[in-house]
Amino acid sequence: MEYIDIIKKMPRIHCARGPEICGKCREYMKDISFSLIRVYLEPQQEARPITEIYVGCRKIVGEYDILKRFDSDKEAKEYAIKYGTDITFE
Ligand SMILES: [Zn+2]
Repeated sequence: MEYIDIIKKMPRIHCARGPEICGKCREYMKDISFSLIRVYLEPQQEARPITEIYVGCRKIVGEYDILKRFDSDKEAKEYAIKYGTDITFE
């Protein structure tokens, strides 16, 4: 299965229902920090949230999992350098 790991500022995820339906999701949306996410290039069986990323000039919209959340921007940047992970600033 193809995927891309990338570091992006993401809200905390509560569940797949999303902020329009779930109150906890709305609460979690306010908590945004750099996260290491894995974006899947093909649709999966599970209901996962969806995000947009740019790889070079290619826009990818795919389901993702959050693998890790960083406590600070500095920690995210250090991780990106150490592991050669793409990081996007928006
Ligand atoms: Zn929820």
